[in-house]
Amino acid sequence: SDDHQLVLDLIEDIPDFPKPGVVFKDITPLLASPKGLRAAINALVALAPPDIDVVVGMEARGFILAAPVALELGAGFVPVRKPGKLPGELYSEQFSLEYGHETLTVKTDAVLPGARVLVIDDVLATGGTVGATAALVHRLGADLVHVAVLMELGFLPGREKLAELGIHNYSAVV
Ligand code: 5GP
Repeated sequence: SDDHQLVLDLIEDIPDFPKPGVVFKDITPLLASPKGLRAAINALVALAPPDIDVVVGMEARGFILAAPVALELGAGFVPVRKPGKLPGELYSEQFSLEYGHETLTVKTDAVLPGARVLVIDDVLATGGTVGATAALVHRLGADLVHVAVLMELGFLPGREKLAELGIHNYSAVV
């Protein structure tokens, strides 16, 4: 559709960022475009199953997309953040990066048990971020009904990783 093409056209390939050999998908041109931003949010909203209670977004680019999707769906927004950012009692999930580890956290009372949760992020690469977030949603006792991303990097095994983790309710805009 036109929305998909616009989203695709406005995501820019940046070679050798953040390090040599990596081609970074830069979504800032998409966000800066009124038509692009609208197309991106509409496309994510179109992927959402009915009756979502909470949209979970991951720091930092996930926040930018998840909050407007939550507004459109009449749902709440819950942030999943890196350590040291959220106050109070937290659940933490560690996952492996190419070098070392990353940790994501969520407030233990962020979501009511049984809530229908949609997870939104900008890019699916290896699937580590979505996998850790899904584990956090599970620990909250909530129901992860769908994961939607703007773009998946098809040359990485992110989708297979999610399938291994039992996450089959997944879709990407582009
Ligand atoms: P993963 O955990 O799937 O390997 O990486 C996905 C996470 O890293 C997402 O939160 C995403 O924001 C970030 N990320 C990885 N590669 C890219 C990229 O090329 N472009 C953007 N915008 N984010 C990326």
